[in-house]
Amino acid sequence: MALARIGLGSNVGDAAANVRRAIDALGALGTVAACSSLYRSEPWGPPDQPDFVNAAALLQTALEPRALLAALKAIEHVMGRVETERWGPRLIDLDILAYDDLEMREPGLTIPHERLFERAFALAPLAEIDPAFQAANDRLPAEARASVCRIAAGGG
Ligand code: ADP
Ligand code: MG
Repeated sequence: MALARIGLGSNVGDAAANVRRAIDALGALGTVAACSSLYRSEPWGPPDQPDFVNAAALLQTALEPRALLAALKAIEHVMGRVETERWGPRLIDLDILAYDDLEMREPGLTIPHERLFERAFALAPLAEIDPAFQAANDRLPAEARASVCRIAAGGG
């Protein structure tokens, strides 16, 4: 069994409901040991898109990283995400933020997630459920941390 840290985000439709539904769907991939509060964050990338709702979950899983990524993409697909512009609006985004203490860099899969340590919307929820990431979140610029705010308790 491995401990995967999953990042979730949505900014299409009822974003909070989409994130909660995706957390439920993670249950099919293992055991959801913890899930964070829901957070609201300002969008990155193309402007003029709705704010995001973000969360993080700890998933105990027997799936290897590649199989886990495929399973996350399948959930995105089933929930109705269509590929649009990079960093554009998305119904649901599921990322492997970290996986045990694994470090890997392969085409299509980098762990820890390539942009984890620069993204307050990923680190703030993750730090809430995994103290190992608190220091990384604290190191972010105040402005980045201020762009993310906790909006609701326990996502699942
Ligand atoms: P992002 O999550 O960076 O906002 P996307 O969800 O569009 O953007 O992901 C683009 C690609 O990133 C995915 O198709 C996937 O193959 C790749 N990728 C690389 N590392 C990871 C990871 N740790 N978790 C999820 N996707 C990853
Ligand atoms: Mg993604």
